[in-house]
Amino acid sequence: MALKEECGVFGIYDTKGGCAGSAYYGLYALQHRGQEACGIAAINDMELSCHKGIGLVGDVFSEEILNNLDGVMAIGHVKYSGTNGKSRKSAQPLTLTYIKGSLAVAHNGNIINSAELKREYEHRGAIFHTSSDSEIIAYIIAQARLHSDSAQDAVKQAMKRLKGAFSLVVMSSQKLIAARDSHGFRPLCIGQKGDAYIFASETCALDSIGATFLRDVLPGEVCWVSNGELYSDRENCSEKSALCIFEHLYFARPDSIIDGQSVYETRILAGRFLARKYTVDADVVIGVPDSGLVAAKGYSLESGLPYNDGFIKNRYIGRTFIAPTQSEREEAVKIKLNPLRAVVSGKRVVVIDDSIVRGTTSSKTIGLLREAGAKEIHVLISSPKFISPCYYGTNVPSKKALIACNYSTEEMRQMLGADTLGFLSLDSLDFIAPNSQCKFCDACFSENYPVA
Ligand code: SF4
Repeated sequence: MALKEECGVFGIYDTKGGCAGSAYYGLYALQHRGQEACGIAAINDMELSCHKGIGLVGDVFSEEILNNLDGVMAIGHVKYSGTNGKSRKSAQPLTLTYIKGSLAVAHNGNIINSAELKREYEHRGAIFHTSSDSEIIAYIIAQARLHSDSAQDAVKQAMKRLKGAFSLVVMSSQKLIAARDSHGFRPLCIGQKGDAYIFASETCALDSIGATFLRDVLPGEVCWVSNGELYSDRENCSEKSALCIFEHLYFARPDSIIDGQSVYETRILAGRFLARKYTVDADVVIGVPDSGLVAAKGYSLESGLPYNDGFIKNRYIGRTFIAPTQSEREEAVKIKLNPLRAVVSGKRVVVIDDSIVRGTTSSKTIGLLREAGAKEIHVLISSPKFISPCYYGTNVPSKKALIACNYSTEEMRQMLGADTLGFLSLDSLDFIAPNSQCKFCDACFSENYPVA
């Protein structure tokens, strides 16, 4: 699997201070959402400071940096490799100072009309320093603030101009604001710890700092914390929700709960549905780390076949999709995964993986299992076939690069060198997340796009 561009955001308001430290731990928990760059911006005595850099959270921040950043509000971001490349400039949060004070913005998602908006503002004299959507968002908010009564109102006005997927955390000189696009493509939740309020991409970030989950930010909702109190505006909450189904199948951590649905339970159910569709005579079920592991357990529970660890993952490199070029991605697979000979040698193996995009990663994985002596390799995928690109921030490539668009399942099976190849059915997506309070976007499997 090789998808990217699922950043993570975190924001905290605590009148007692210490917010940069909490943001650090929150980002640590969200590290799976982006390993290329990260940053924290904090406000103390109305003064904005920011530190960001290329690399993992643990590498970019030191105790000294965090002590210098400390404040009563902080927002943070982990960035995935995107079209902006590995530049420190395009790391977030994006900060600016303008006539109304300071502003810091971090977002997860993709603004579909960003080029159009950028052109419009450039014609009015704006100068942009990065190619990041965050800078455009920050600029639109700052512009809107000149004619709005409050920072949260400016965010609300800005949201009306932005098309696409975004979960935002914004910090003005006095307020912490969070907003989710009207379809809720990307997750965003609210937590509380004592008097502090927290916004985060996933609930695992709340757990990491001992905060209690309060609720999710609703699609289209703007929430803000001012003088230690939490407020909300739901005027823009009218559209049909469309959380990216891939949050459950791949991006999010299994210990997170998104819009009422446990990610772990979703993956277990995906595995169970696969087992109902494909009965395989095999000796063992294994999962491709990380997202395939839970689905493999689900397959094992439903089929009765024993589950075992099939791969050892090197924990000290990022997920394969951190590598932006094809050759880097292919190398990363070899460095990352090593099959457990003791488990697979001489065995008929069912392998559960989360998806097949281009097919290159899967063929490497199957090759590794053959080299380790697996007798039969039955590959089952816990998502339907990728048949269409994503325009909402995930780099599902064009149809030309999507293997399932160009070959039949049988042709793919032969190309990958598997004994069986099967996919989760599109219909199953309606049943794998029964507790979700949000409907889903499944456009890369169905071509049914929620936003034109
Ligand atoms: Fe997620 Fe696919 Fe929809 Fe993009 S098109 S938001 S990857 S389900």
